[in-house]
Amino acid sequence: MNNAQSLHDLSYEELEQFMKVDGIKAVHAHSLWRLLHWDASLLERESCQHLLGPLRRWIDEYVGEDKTFFLDHPEQVADIRSSDGMTRKFLLKLRDGQTIETVLMSYDGRFTACVSTQVGCAMGCVFCATGQMGFTRHLRPGEIIAQVLHVQRVLRRDCGKRLRNLVLMGMGEPLHNYDAVMRAMTVMSDVRGPSLSAQRITISTVGVAPAIRRMAEEKIPYNLALSLHGANQAQRSALIPVGKKWQMEELMEACRIYNREVGKGIFIEWTLIAGTNDSPEIAAELAELLRGIDVHINLIPLNPTEGYAGTATATQAGLQFQKLLRNAGYPVTFRQRRGIDVAAGCGQLKSERNKRAESFDEKLQPTKAGPKQTQLDQVS
Ligand code: SAH
Ligand code: SF4
Repeated sequence: MNNAQSLHDLSYEELEQFMKVDGIKAVHAHSLWRLLHWDASLLERESCQHLLGPLRRWIDEYVGEDKTFFLDHPEQVADIRSSDGMTRKFLLKLRDGQTIETVLMSYDGRFTACVSTQVGCAMGCVFCATGQMGFTRHLRPGEIIAQVLHVQRVLRRDCGKRLRNLVLMGMGEPLHNYDAVMRAMTVMSDVRGPSLSAQRITISTVGVAPAIRRMAEEKIPYNLALSLHGANQAQRSALIPVGKKWQMEELMEACRIYNREVGKGIFIEWTLIAGTNDSPEIAAELAELLRGIDVHINLIPLNPTEGYAGTATATQAGLQFQKLLRNAGYPVTFRQRRGIDVAAGCGQLKSERNKRAESFDEKLQPTKAGPKQTQLDQVS
């Protein structure tokens, strides 16, 4: 690889500036931005033939392998669907051969993309397949954006729909890769580009307290989800090793600052693990811990992973946990985990693939081989 840079990594202003140096008018930067981020049609060179001369010549001169800029266009190496047809998971191969997971989910005919922010993760949460893999590297902004563009292309092709929501809940810890994530989200919410509403973008964090305070200070407009999973210091740090670094008290204080500065509530993500964090006593302790903080609690049963012996809380016990928190005054959603049959837990498809390089395709049935129409196809 030469020293080429990804065109998808540039901000609008950087792109405009770069073109201006060559005497290219701002209007062409606008067109190029749309080709890059709105319909991603720059990836299909033949669709550029109709472009005005100066823009076409600029693209020919600067964009391509072995030119100044390359395009982030990861190769799809797997496309797996859940049996209920509501979840579709893509394994995407990056330029350096690393793979990441991107998930497309359908709720009531509306589509949500769940994207990765790192290859692997350094946080080491014991129940998480990505944590069990360890950290390989951060993703660049263009690699985060490319996942959204991939999902949008699939949606457009298969059912003529557009993406509505974006969650950063794939592989990796978004706030450990703060600058790249925020740059990518600026592009995603840009009205000249994909134009996703900031209200429909959610960043999920393991609880990097200083970065939550930074989001508050910078008044970052996206939603924030905090993966809590423990109601006290000891319980949390047994599940989340970095809970020892950013302790409960500091974390709750960061949440209060966020509420106050951004003026928004926080989603609390709670993975229900049988016999570990699902008792009535824990519900009471959690209610006490969150007192005075503006939250919405999401309960999700554990997706079992090979590296962790815990099992999911049974539905009845989960509903009881929900009821106790509701009685304590909190809005609480109990969500069944989606797509469990396609190894849709965070990082599970990649680790499955690594282990079973040969038998994988037969076992998980890639899309092309699947004769069954799913709801993701049928929605129109
Ligand atoms: N690193 C971020 C975002 C990626 S993980 C974070 O931790 O928030 C996205 C969510 O999936 C987190 O709430 C995480 O706790 C949860 N998760 C990870 N592995 C899981 C599993 N095996 N079962 C259920 N939830 C899991
Ligand atoms: Fe990383 Fe999130 Fe998995 Fe923890 S749950 S290891 S922070 S991806």
